[in-house]
Order: sequence, then C-alpha cells, then structure tokens
Amino acid sequence: MKSDVVIVGGGISGLSLAFYAAKAGFKTTLLEKNDNPGGSFSSHRYTGNNANFWFELGAHTCYNSYQNLLDIVDACNLTDSIIPREKVPFTLLVDKQLKSVFSALNIFEALKSIPNIFSLKKEGLSVRDYYSKIVGVNNYNNTLSHFFNAVPSQPTDDFPADMMFKSRPKRKEVLKNYTFKEGLQSVAKAIAKSKGINVFTDQEVTGIEVIDGSYAITTKAGVTHSATTLALATPSAVSSHLLQTIEPDISKHLGSLKAATVDSVGVVINKRDLSIKPVAAIISPNDIFFSAVSRDTVSDDNYRGFAFHFKPGESDETKMRRITDVLGISESKIIHKHTVLNTVPSLRLGHREWLEKMNSLLAGKNLLLTGNYFGGMAIEDCVSRSLSESSRLKKAL
Ligand SMILES: Cc1cc2nc3c(=O)[nH]c(=O)nc-3n(C[C@H](O)[C@H](O)[C@H](O)COP(=O)(O)OP(=O)(O)OC[C@H]3O[C@@H](n4cnc5c(N)ncnc54)[C@H](O)[C@@H]3O)c2cc1C
Repeated sequence: MKSDVVIVGGGISGLSLAFYAAKAGFKTTLLEKNDNPGGSFSSHRYTGNNANFWFELGAHTCYNSYQNLLDIVDACNLTDSIIPREKVPFTLLVDKQLKSVFSALNIFEALKSIPNIFSLKKEGLSVRDYYSKIVGVNNYNNTLSHFFNAVPSQPTDDFPADMMFKSRPKRKEVLKNYTFKEGLQSVAKAIAKSKGINVFTDQEVTGIEVIDGSYAITTKAGVTHSATTLALATPSAVSSHLLQTIEPDISKHLGSLKAATVDSVGVVINKRDLSIKPVAAIISPNDIFFSAVSRDTVSDDNYRGFAFHFKPGESDETKMRRITDVLGISESKIIHKHTVLNTVPSLRLGHREWLEKMNSLLAGKNLLLTGNYFGGMAIEDCVSRSLSESSRLKKAL
C-alpha cells in the first residue's frame, strides 16, 4: 500500500507532522518503534491494585505560549482536559535538606547583576556567559546552573542562551502552565487517532531505499511501506543512520550533532509512606541524577510518583540506592518502578548556521526532517518545526 507520506518516529514531532499532513488531505502513515506513540511526550501508568495513576517520565509541563500545540489540542477536542499544575516548589537538595531556590541565591550578588538584563542580548552567548552576567558568577555556578542542567538533563553551560528559554506570544485565555487530566500522553493518543493517520506501533524502521522514484521503508519485522515523501522524526543520530545510503550529505550533516541519553527511573509510593513535603522537582547539585520530577503538581489521594533523571551509565543498584536515600524510604516501599531512555539534543553555539545549511540541503527534496534538534527542544519547538515541514510537503506533492 503506497502512502503520500510515511513518517518515521511517533514522538510529538512525528505526531504533529502526521496531524498536519492528514489535515491537508495526504494519505499518511506513521511508524513507531515502541508499543505506544509519544516518545518523550508519553506518560506511564500504574494500574496495579485497581489504581489508575499516571506520571511523566519525560516532558511534564506545557505553557500558554505553546500556540501550535494548543491549536492541535483544540482540534482533538482536548481543551477541556487542560488542568492547572499545583503550585508546589522546585527545590534544591543541599546537605540532605530541601531548600527553595530563592533561599540558595546570594541576593546582593543577584541585585548587583540583574540590571544587565536590560542591555545584554542572548544571541551569540552561551547559557553560562549570559546568565552569569544576569545573576552573578557565584549564583550561576552554585545554584542556577543546576536548574538549567535539569531542563535537558545534561550540562547546559555551552548551550546557546537564546535556545534554552524562549519568549513567545502567549494565549492569554489559557493557563500559564498546565498539564492534562490523564497526562501528556492523552494528547499523543488523541493525535494518533486523528482521521487520516495510519499509526503502526512496534515498527522499528531499519532500512530506507529509493525505488523507481519512491521511498521503500523497511521495518525490523520485514514489512516494507512505500511513499512519495519520507519524513524522519527520530533523534538526529537515528535519522543520520537511516539516510546514510540514500542521502549521504544530509546524513553527514545530521551526524555532526551531539545528543545526550537520559536514563529515567519512575517510582510510585503509597502517599502514607512518604514524609517529604510536596514538591514539583528535586534538583541535587553535582549528583548522579539531574532532577527528580514529581507528580505532586497533580496531587492524588493515594499515591505519589517521582521520575529520577539519571546520568547514563549507573548500575540499577546504585540508582535504587540513591532514589531510596533521597526519598528517605526503604526499597520495599516502592510499589511500582518503570525505566525509559530518552534522547535530548546537546545544542551548541552556531546551531542556527547548522540549521540554515540543513534547510538548504533539504530544499527541493521529497524528504522532511523534524525533531527536537531544530529551533530548540521544547514541545512547541518540535510542533513548530513540523508545521514548517508540512508546508514543504504541500509543495512537494
Ligand atoms: C526528561 C525530559 C523532560 C522534558 N520536559 C519537558 C517539558 O516539561 N516541557 C517541554 O516543552 N519539553 C520537555 N522536554 C523536551 C520534549 O519532551 C522533547 O524534546 C520532545 O518530546 C521530543 O519529541 P520528538 O518527537 O522530537 O522526539 P522523541 O520524543 O524522542 O520521539 C522520537 C520517536 O522516534 C521513535 N524511534 C526512534 N527510532 C526509531 C526507528 N528506527 N523506527 C521507528 N521509530 C523510531 C522513538 O521510539 C520515539 O518515539 C523534556 C524532555 C525530557 C527527556
């Protein structure tokens, strides 16, 4: 069966591109390696003991500045399931004590530096160069940098400052930050069910050829899909590998990007067994994990959940010992555990030039590329890239 477009990768980048393609009337197929769509935008659910408790192992927060995402949410009739995140603090773990970020800052240093915000431009500066001038070098090194590292779960000193946090126009009638009644994966599932999209899960794509001017996309299970246009929505290294034979220049350019693996361990605990106060996240400077993101932002009567985002390479025993230490419980109190690996880009100064070259290499081809390594790694960056690639699809076919 031939499709107008086959999209490889069912994270929010692939799903949003599929949404735009199907909406424009193209016969759209999406192939996802895992048994569920969503990628880093998928929730995990604990259903033992008659529970229905979701928690996030990847993305957890959306904002009213995510306008393209919100348009899709509206179209999927999910606007009514947007819910606020409870106002619980992001905390620092210092000397086994949870502290607010504010209390960890040196206010005199911050007050001396903050006026720089009016004159300093982010463009061309790294996160370290920009923010150490805004809050002071010591405040940056001792406190703020650890919060920044927690965002993409990797060191962010060398990230381009203008790609970490972006100011975008906001939809004023929508909550400033929010999630969804059934977690972010309800959005992924709703998009996957949209009219005109054929989603195949458990389909890892292993080979791509061009035969008689069409793409032949083969999966590990030996199934071949044919398409006029190919769209890759996988991490940059996977896309680079898949394009090695048919598009060597694009493959090489993709291969020049770096990315980090995030080793996330989610745990569920009975509420009565945990004494630490409700938090949005725990950030522990110079630890083996970048952050522990909690489900306390949507409190539950019976359970609490935490996703520990570890540096890669730690053993299961070490990770579990750290989790139980931080939470102050014995392992027997963990009633459910789930592990995932996510990939996040390691953006560097000069990325805009990389992007310009990539767009010029793609010009005029029936090949679309989307993902979290174009304008930034936020969900809205992924959806925005998919929207702009969908306009190329309209021209290509
Ligand atoms: C821990 C964490 C927390 C985050 N928090 C936030 C947040 O709060 N707010 C925010 O805006 N952003 C957040 N982000 C960033 C955001 O979630 C991601 O950048 C975004 O979800 C990436 O989407 P994607 O579709 O580009 O990639 P992915 O989600 O990685 O999707 C790629 C998909 O491709 C599939 N795939 C890979 N290889 C193949 C293959 N060969 N064949 C078929 N399928 C394949 C994968 O299984 C995966 O489903 C967070 C990211 C992480 C990791």
